Amino acid sequence: MRVLTFVAASKLEWREAPDPTVAGPLEAIVRPVAASPCDLDRALVAGRAPLPGPFALGHEAVAEIVDLGDGVRHFSVGDLVVVPWHISCGACARCRVGLPASCLAVTPRAMFGTPIGGDWGGLFSDLARVPYADAMLVPLPPGVRPAAAAPASDNLTDAWIAVSRPLRQHPGARVAIFGGGGCVGLYAVELALAAGAGAVDYVDKAPDRLALAATLGARPIERGAPVEPALVVLDASSHPAELARALRTVAPGGSCHSVGIYFMDTPLPLLDMYGNDVTFTTGRPSVGPHIARVLELVAGGQVHPEKVSAGEAPWDSAIEVLLERKVKPVLVRPTLRA
Ligand SMILES: [Zn+2]
Ligand SMILES: [Zn+2]
Repeated sequence: MRVLTFVAASKLEWREAPDPTVAGPLEAIVRPVAASPCDLDRALVAGRAPLPGPFALGHEAVAEIVDLGDGVRHFSVGDLVVVPWHISCGACARCRVGLPASCLAVTPRAMFGTPIGGDWGGLFSDLARVPYADAMLVPLPPGVRPAAAAPASDNLTDAWIAVSRPLRQHPGARVAIFGGGGCVGLYAVELALAAGAGAVDYVDKAPDRLALAATLGARPIERGAPVEPALVVLDASSHPAELARALRTVAPGGSCHSVGIYFMDTPLPLLDMYGNDVTFTTGRPSVGPHIARVLELVAGGQVHPEKVSAGEAPWDSAIEVLLERKVKPVLVRPTLRA
């Protein structure tokens, strides 16, 4: 099979590798049919992430199942599924409390599409092995296009967790989103409204992203302009100064979650946070248990991930498309049944 391989900054190659095969009763072999770059992949391709190549790229995809182990109960060959970015067993103490991204049954931080936690292949490859099919895979609901659901593997569901969790604590609160780092802040606009936000402010420096956020239902605010204090704040800027502004925007007793990956030690305005009783969270999102709910919102027409997409492109154009580093193309190909 062909493996889309990250070699070095701005250097991607299709490399040949043996087809993966089912090696145990709980496994599946899947063939991605719609795959998108995570915001991390854009940083990787640009050479901004501290991960040297070569390795198989890609960890957001809808795939069709092409082979299954004898012990898989919930799926059949031909099913279309969302493949979560993290590898998880579904049965260990961490998986059972909703932390599959920290599964104890596999190498720490095991995931598709980077060398972190071992080599699990990538979802821009022709095929991938899923070690715990029943625990990991999520069925694609009828009527949802694979291209719309691919980001549910990671960035779309990350955005859902980031806004829905604090909104359960502060129902109806206004949400302030500091965007600019990629797609997650934009996805969070519709997801916050679906989770019951009273209103959404979206801060960014790019006029096109501000205009898009407005069409998704947010009040657009140019970076640097005043932002009203909010109980629920999301930092999706990947920008240290904006992270500090996001933290200073939290209303007393509220919280700020950061989805941006900061590769360097980054200062925090702890005195202001202390003064306002601010809770700050960040972390690798354990998306698995939340994907089905996100797909329901897409199927129900409350959330439109395709509005954030830079469009669909043929699978074989992956190298050129990924090197453009746009937010957020989806590579597509027909299913084997089509
Ligand atoms: Zn990712
Ligand atoms: Zn586990």
